Amino acid sequence: MSTTEKHHFQAEIQQLLDIVIHSLYTDKEIFVRELISNAADACEKLRFTQAAGTAVYQSETVPGIAITTGEKTITITDTGIGMTHGELVENLGTIAHSGTKAFLKQLAEDKKPDTKLIGQFGVGFYSAFMVATNVTVLSRSLAPDAQGWRWTSQGTGGYEIEPAGDLPRGTAITLQLKDDASEFAEADNLERIIKRYSNFVQYPIELNGKRLNTVQAIWARSKNEIKPEEYTEFYHFLGHDDAEPRYRLHFTADAPLAIQALLFVPERNFETLGMARIESEVNLYCKKVMIQDKAKGLFPEWLRFLKGVVDSEDLPLNISRETMQDSSLLKKLNGVLTGRFLKFLDEQAEKEAGTYAKFYEQYNRFLKEGVVSDYQHKDALGKLLRYESSALPKGAQTSLAEYVKRLPEGQKEIYFLIGQNREAVESSPYYEVFQARKFEVLFLYDPWDEFVMDHLRQFDGKDLRSAEKAELDVAEPTKKEGTLSDDDATALAAWIKETLGDRISAVRPSKRLVDSPAVVLEADKFMTSTMRRIMKSMKRDTDAPDIVKHDLEINPAHPLMSRLNAMRQADPALAGKVAEQVLDSARVAAGLMEDPRAMLKRINELLEQVLTAKA
Ligand code: ADP
Ligand code: MG
Repeated sequence: MSTTEKHHFQAEIQQLLDIVIHSLYTDKEIFVRELISNAADACEKLRFTQAAGTAVYQSETVPGIAITTGEKTITITDTGIGMTHGELVENLGTIAHSGTKAFLKQLAEDKKPDTKLIGQFGVGFYSAFMVATNVTVLSRSLAPDAQGWRWTSQGTGGYEIEPAGDLPRGTAITLQLKDDASEFAEADNLERIIKRYSNFVQYPIELNGKRLNTVQAIWARSKNEIKPEEYTEFYHFLGHDDAEPRYRLHFTADAPLAIQALLFVPERNFETLGMARIESEVNLYCKKVMIQDKAKGLFPEWLRFLKGVVDSEDLPLNISRETMQDSSLLKKLNGVLTGRFLKFLDEQAEKEAGTYAKFYEQYNRFLKEGVVSDYQHKDALGKLLRYESSALPKGAQTSLAEYVKRLPEGQKEIYFLIGQNREAVESSPYYEVFQARKFEVLFLYDPWDEFVMDHLRQFDGKDLRSAEKAELDVAEPTKKEGTLSDDDATALAAWIKETLGDRISAVRPSKRLVDSPAVVLEADKFMTSTMRRIMKSMKRDTDAPDIVKHDLEINPAHPLMSRLNAMRQADPALAGKVAEQVLDSARVAAGLMEDPRAMLKRINELLEQVLTAKA
């Protein structure tokens, strides 16, 4: 009786395999990296289990990786943890990772999909099917009472599992290569590829009996002995990424904790590639033994783009991963590492502004997430923010520290104005008083910035103040020809308030306007128009036209106001319409107009009246 079991792949895996098998990829060779990376992970897990004192089958066999080639075959053998029957089914037949769907979508849509990234999505094993017609996995788990299993698959049509008798501990994966992939079985070629991708594996790798790599934990070596290429190669291996990292930080600390850390920032922010939320990929070691890969809690969530290694000899080796996650030691480690990384960014920004700008473009949303969610680090993060400013040409950015340095005598606040883009903020009525008084204003174009400013509150002891809220007067009100007298302006304001009724909370002559006839201001001192818009969108079901009341300020120097003042006696009906339009126009300028239908109807009536008068 046959003991062979037939299994189907989980639907997502079958879909992935169909794409991987039937497409022509130029970067097929990455399967070497992915399979060796799995073998190295298996060795790492073995070492961890042993270090924790658990009994292991063939405990005298040291972890390592051996690769052999034959006629159109490659076999990658490791003496790592191996897999039980259940683990073979679980690990090679299903996927738990959330990013896989996003990866599949990208593969399916993109004509030249970036298969190099396959390892980032927790499906690296399946890259074997880019080059193989048949994959056989022989595996025996480290559990002393386990047995050996043979797993085979042609990719399509599922996989089979059968008992394989007595096997040594670990896993051997044999690829039967496709005709057009036979070059991978040539030893010279394979050696080159292994060296390219896997030089930094922490376990010995042999190819046909020849030792290829020198095993050294790069993070534990002295900085001045390490060549830049070595760092880059290590990053390529660790990050499953072919690009150069944007930043690299290698540091050691003795107090308050003994730490050796090597951290990388990828050039690209993988979260903006339309993919799922990325997960931190910093592995935690204790004296070169991996305690946890992709360690949770080692860094705050907003630093989840980091990749690298943290090694601390202060960690207890036999700690369980669950207890680790909320240990006070981890919190301490997190504090030290985060502080150090932020300091590093600040130094880099100072030293090489151009590189920092590229980093910032990719990662500013993460820093902003930090300001909003991480009270402990918000001040350090505030230093890292960059914005356009009225003091700089379009496209150039300033830090808050530079803004403060430029502060003229007497200015006590840092002003910012939020809008769609440069043109929009520069033509905003709120900007007029700043322009007139030559006060610098930061221009913020990201809707998140409102919350960032709200959480940051202060920088260097100076309040951050929305330009919409600033209590500023144009220093010398322009007494243009036809400017309304103070009394007339006050009377006009009172009449407008009477005409508009409840639609506005107060109307008064303005001292902040130059070119605009009127402006609306939040009656609530702490609410800005963006926040109000967001609040309103959350309360869509209320029929109240406005959740927050506005004040209207009118410009006594604007010809529209002097004419309106004259017209309110001569033609109250027309003047009333104009007053309503003044309010609506100001609301449009403030980005507060949601339903313009009533306004359009009124404009048409006004236009008709203008034309009738001229006819
Ligand atoms: P990932 O490595 O990101 O988890 P893979 O598709 O590369 O995704 O591998 C899937 C899983 O299969 C691994 O997490 C591991 O549990 C298991 N696995 C693969 N290769 C080996 C191996 N050589 N030894 C033990 N387990 C392995
Ligand atoms: Mg893998």
